[in-house]
Amino acid sequence: MVCHPGSQMDSPNTQRMTIASESLPEKYSLEASREPLPQLIDSFGRVHESLRISVTDACNIRCRYCMPETVASFLPQHRLLSFDSIARVVSVLARSGIRKVRLTGGEPLMRPNLERLVDKLAKIPGVDQIAMTTNAMLLSDQITALESAGLTHINISLDTLREAAFKRISRRDGLDAVLRGIESAISTKLVVRLNALLMRDINLQDCIPLVEFARAKKLFIRFIEFMPLDADRQWSQDQVVSGTELRLVLESHFGPLTAIGRADPAQPSSDFVFEDGQGGVGFIDPVSQPFCQSCNRIRLTADGKLRNCLFSQEEWDLKAACESNASDHEIHSIATACIRKKYASHGISESNFKQPERAMYQIGG
Ligand code: SAM
Ligand code: SF4
Repeated sequence: MVCHPGSQMDSPNTQRMTIASESLPEKYSLEASREPLPQLIDSFGRVHESLRISVTDACNIRCRYCMPETVASFLPQHRLLSFDSIARVVSVLARSGIRKVRLTGGEPLMRPNLERLVDKLAKIPGVDQIAMTTNAMLLSDQITALESAGLTHINISLDTLREAAFKRISRRDGLDAVLRGIESAISTKLVVRLNALLMRDINLQDCIPLVEFARAKKLFIRFIEFMPLDADRQWSQDQVVSGTELRLVLESHFGPLTAIGRADPAQPSSDFVFEDGQGGVGFIDPVSQPFCQSCNRIRLTADGKLRNCLFSQEEWDLKAACESNASDHEIHSIATACIRKKYASHGISESNFKQPERAMYQIGG
């Protein structure tokens, strides 16, 4: 369901509507107001401080846990939320406490001139972290511009160091480009981390080489459990490698892991360091140990829909709002309506769980 300003936001019968103003030029300019707006607090008391922004649904690879092998079409340019609109939304939400933004996709580096967006976001008062999650294939050519524009953190997805497994997972060649991208990120002052996703029958065996690689490069690596967000809808519990299981595998090879506290209670990873002091590893376990009670994230899709959860069945249309000259207060009230309808948890393990219509690449991971 897509809710537009002025529509019946609570009606289950509200249908996806055509956005009449989509192709119109933007008429607003960034409002100068810095007046604080009410915080984004949901009905369970969770205060929202983090916004994940998908800048495109397009990608240069086709990870089987995310995308279909063939995609009929990606969003055309006119359906993407413009950089000005993204900055407008962030400037409003920053006044109500959003202080971290993460650019994602699809593959965010596929969106041309991404550094221009980073530059706009870096100038917004209240935003103190501009992060990006990327597969790094296009990173080495763009990293300098992104760092100069104000990017602060980068998470690079790396699921294997074997070319054949890379191809099996992503249905494309390209491991060399990813590794070049990682080297280019290491050469900057950005905070760089690795993210890995293991599927039991495909790359569980890569966990030790991945950790060895991360330790050698002095990078923190986090393993995220496979969630039911794949376009092929092939997800099954059997393919999920839980953080608990993986920790035992890693401890049997590297020795005991020592837990380190969470500096930020809302960050989803349980982090550990190795006994020998060389690096650490984190486990993000949304399936086996959901962390919904401390979730402080909302998400903006590439076509400008606000979602209160990866697994949300509803969306609120901020692109239509931006393009119809909505005021800051109207944008804020759409975000408030979205957050008010956030569920207590994603319910993956419940019998009535329904996988969302959009797959991960269409939401933004
Ligand atoms: N293309 C970029 C990348 O791969 O890093 C950014 C977008 S991608 C959707 C963001 C993250 O989502 C990646 O780290 C990827 O591993 C993760 N992801 C994708 N599909 C997933 C799934 N079904 N379950 C858990 N994580 C998933
Ligand atoms: Fe592309 Fe990232 Fe999805 Fe892989 S996980 S297909 S790199 S969007």
